[in-house]
Amino acid sequence: MKLREQLLGKARRIVVKLGTGLLTDAQNQLARSQITQLVGQLSAARHDGREVLVVSSGAIAAGMSALGLATRPKELAQLQACAAVGQCRLMAIYDDAFASSGVHVAQVLLTHDDLRNRARHLNARRTLDTLLRRGVVPIINENDTVSVDEIKFGDNDRLSALTAALVDADLLVVLSHVEGLYKIWGDAKDQRKLQVIPVVEGITPDIEAMAGGTDRLTSVGGMRSKIEAARIVTRAGIPMVIASGEHLNVLADVLAGKEIGTIFLPGAKKLAGRKRWIAFFQRTAGALRVDGGARDALCTGGKSLLAKGVVGAEGDFSVGDAVSVQDASGVEFARGLTKVASNELKTAAGVVVHRDDLVIL
Ligand code: GLU
Repeated sequence: MKLREQLLGKARRIVVKLGTGLLTDAQNQLARSQITQLVGQLSAARHDGREVLVVSSGAIAAGMSALGLATRPKELAQLQACAAVGQCRLMAIYDDAFASSGVHVAQVLLTHDDLRNRARHLNARRTLDTLLRRGVVPIINENDTVSVDEIKFGDNDRLSALTAALVDADLLVVLSHVEGLYKIWGDAKDQRKLQVIPVVEGITPDIEAMAGGTDRLTSVGGMRSKIEAARIVTRAGIPMVIASGEHLNVLADVLAGKEIGTIFLPGAKKLAGRKRWIAFFQRTAGALRVDGGARDALCTGGKSLLAKGVVGAEGDFSVGDAVSVQDASGVEFARGLTKVASNELKTAAGVVVHRDDLVIL
């Protein structure tokens, strides 16, 4: 059996991210027929016995058109007002479209803070699990109306990756206008050609550079954030596919393992729920720099970080805070929860980050 069929055919719990461009027309109006078409595919996957979660953008654009704004406002309160108006229009269309195939939907609006706090994180997971068990399709978006920088996910590519990590999905499918991750060649702009890369085995600097290239050529803003999303899910142990949502049956084709779009292969080991929470849902309060011996002990020996291996620190952190663990040149290779506050590091002895609280990235 081909690799894609093997990985995707058995995917039971799937997160599908739908980008604004796919859900709206040139006037920023919600593209009802396109949404209905996509919902048809999602319902089919649901009726096929899969658990389906949708991460949907489009609220701000829908709100702009409803309020008669031709250009995207700059002021935060204006954007938040647009999101508030647009979100319920968006949900009305989803509710209608899913209802016609007998599927219930649930609106779930999240801020980063909701998933950073351990108790709220577990609670959100339980709620989503309950909805899925009842056959409901949760439609998730950032709670834009109350989100400010400190509590923001940032973008929905990232939110979809975190959702997949939260619910321990088997697959994340990111649908937008792009066909996948493009390789670009040729030098003069008009002679450049695009080729979709079918499989990405790891997020290397080369892959990152391709995301940059795609931005310039096709003015697709979002490839960088899609690569960041891929970094999160693949490390969590979940495959991700980027494909064009303009193709009819794209979801069925992806799930059948057809060579469509780009697949990012998952890392070898699945990360457990608490380790995911440490690695992806925290904002680091500072950094610990460690020497080569400590780096080896953590990466290959599976050991805890001891005070004697710490050669420097940055930031102001307290016991229990998430910190970035970096090599001596400042490159992050792990994250963990510190047992020692920054102002006590100089005199500390013994364990600074216990291996149970440490994730190698
Ligand atoms: N939450 C935004 C909206 O619904 C979209 C953010 C994004 O697409 O990254 O308009």
